[in-house]
Amino acid sequence: MYKCARCREPILTNINTVGIQCKNCGSKVFYKERPNVKKVVKAR
Ligand SMILES: [Zn+2]
Repeated sequence: MYKCARCREPILTNINTVGIQCKNCGSKVFYKERPNVKKVVKAR
């Protein structure tokens, strides 16, 4: 899952396609969303 770096709209197009743009803002900068970025840490 990738997201637009500017507007954070999820990119549904294949990221490997050449010349893709965010359909929302036209940005070409994306970042990869990690599914396991939210880690549960027990504070005690
Ligand atoms: Zn965008």
